[in-house]
Amino acid sequence: MKSKIITVKSVDDYNKFIKKIKYYKTFLYRNTKFKIEQNKIFKDIESIEKALNLKKKKERTEYVYSYCCDYIDNYCKDKDFCKFKDNKCLNQYHNNYINGCCRGCRFQSKSGCKTSNLTCKLFYCSSVKDNNKIVEYKDLKIIRCLPLRNRPIIKHDFFVSREEMLNDLYLNSIIIFVIKTLFRLRYIKKMVNSNKTS
Ligand code: SF4
Ligand code: SF4
Repeated sequence: MKSKIITVKSVDDYNKFIKKIKYYKTFLYRNTKFKIEQNKIFKDIESIEKALNLKKKKERTEYVYSYCCDYIDNYCKDKDFCKFKDNKCLNQYHNNYINGCCRGCRFQSKSGCKTSNLTCKLFYCSSVKDNNKIVEYKDLKIIRCLPLRNRPIIKHDFFVSREEMLNDLYLNSIIIFVIKTLFRLRYIKKMVNSNKTS
């Protein structure tokens, strides 16, 4: 395997490197091992290097997915964005619904979500977004190591398990994803109208 050394020691180097990921992830670099020389300022560089060096699609997808979920979980662990009280989030204090955005989802439980869905982790309503700094899709540069067609899947694959979402990403077919989503819609509509307190 060939070796490619990249130096990332300034913001300019970092921005250039991030822009070039779209080339580094292609088949042209299938036999290239990346070595990124850096000064530890940019916290995601090591992970992006690791993702680019995982040449098998499944391994890379799973690694990027887990990295993003862990990153968001760590960021949110000491924050209380949704301000739940008696099972009601801040948008539900004055209506009959409970359990926030997860109401009716088959993966909710008393101890929280039973799976790890990246789309859900990235979602916040405007009441939260307008008043807090949340992790957004654009903050997760490592996602650029995945194919471009994964982008709409990551943005819209709500209410499915980690395994189902990873399968959608491996398949990487927008047509199949849209068909699956249409089938799921009936379930989602039922779910959105469920979990009223009375
Ligand atoms: S994101 Fe908004 S609607 Fe969803 S649980 Fe949090 S406060 Fe409620
Ligand atoms: S999959 Fe999404 S909607 Fe369902 S419980 Fe988990 S976070 Fe909530």
